[in-house]
Amino acid sequence: MTLVAPANPARRGGRRWFRRRRPAPIVDQAVVVLHDVTKRYPNGKMALVDVDLVIPKGDFVFLVGPSGAGKSTIMRLLIRDELATGGQVVVDGQDVARLSRRQIPRVRRTIGIVFQDFKLLPTKTVQENVAFALEVTGTQHRLIRPQVDRVLALVGLSSVANHVPRQLSGGEQQRTAIARALVHDPKLIIADEPTGNLDPLISWEIIQLLLRINELGVTVMMATHDADVVTALRRRVVALEEGRIIRDEIGGAYHRED
Ligand code: ADP
Repeated sequence: MTLVAPANPARRGGRRWFRRRRPAPIVDQAVVVLHDVTKRYPNGKMALVDVDLVIPKGDFVFLVGPSGAGKSTIMRLLIRDELATGGQVVVDGQDVARLSRRQIPRVRRTIGIVFQDFKLLPTKTVQENVAFALEVTGTQHRLIRPQVDRVLALVGLSSVANHVPRQLSGGEQQRTAIARALVHDPKLIIADEPTGNLDPLISWEIIQLLLRINELGVTVMMATHDADVVTALRRRVVALEEGRIIRDEIGGAYHRED
């Protein structure tokens, strides 16, 4: 990634000048840029305050912080489920607030989402759950099967492709959800507490799978309360508290270590 420092805003053309807002970072190859982002919900709740965050292509980021800190709100802003009240949210080079109605689905397809509770369709098989994600976006029928088979092999589920969710373990259900998130070849996977419903051993398998996907070049942002995993893996840790980023550390632990 190339991070180009903004030109010194205090001096331009030999004269001093001042601006009220910080200059936007010029960021090359970032998948996500949040610049000075504030989110106030209609009830007045300030969920995010002055959040600056740059996630370069290929990064693996743990988003940590207590319940209510603003982790899910960041994710909702990225998929434009909510709009920021202030600041800029840029995904894959696109300012999400400026997208036309027609552009929104295309930008959403650059992001794969994984939830804590899997959100699978109970009457569809593993294969159909994954295929459905392609069907709803109008993918040509003949292209669907090969893409589904490829991602099911990647997550290790080819042998249960014809099972419905209730025939699967929790770990297998989450793998199905990950396959569904991957089927559009996203640039970014956002996972909101993906191991929250799984026991520790299965949680590790899911994390290992997300790490492997990251090694294949997909940027991963994962919100989690799983302190053991975060501390063991020493990846980038972004910690939120009351809507503010209080720590952004490469190779961090779950808790601050001073
Ligand atoms: P986290 O994911 O870290 O638990 P959230 O982003 O869900 O945090 O929530 C941040 C804050 O915003 C919390 O105080 C929460 O109650 C509030 N909040 C979240 N969604 C809404 C909403 N739709 N309307 C009002 N307040 C909300």
